[in-house]
Amino acid sequence: MSRAALVVFLVFLFLALVRMARPLLRAGRAGARRAAPRAIEAEMVRDPVCGTWIDRRLAVPGRHRGEAVAVCSEECRQRLESA
Ligand SMILES: [Zn+2]
Repeated sequence: MSRAALVVFLVFLFLALVRMARPLLRAGRAGARRAAPRAIEAEMVRDPVCGTWIDRRLAVPGRHRGEAVAVCSEECRQRLESA
């Protein structure tokens, strides 16, 4: 009996969490659409070595004259740092 109550409680908790998370996801998507140019600017970075546009999250972090520079690959990072 108590185990069944626990299962019901967990199901309700899960549903409540899903219900709470849904508006947040929707708001996030709407916000991204409204700020589309800025979002793209913020997420896409140009590799200064080969000129490719890359997603910041996939970029390889490199350093050039003490500045953090995002590049597309390990090869570009080595070229950047040897330059
Ligand atoms: Zn590159």
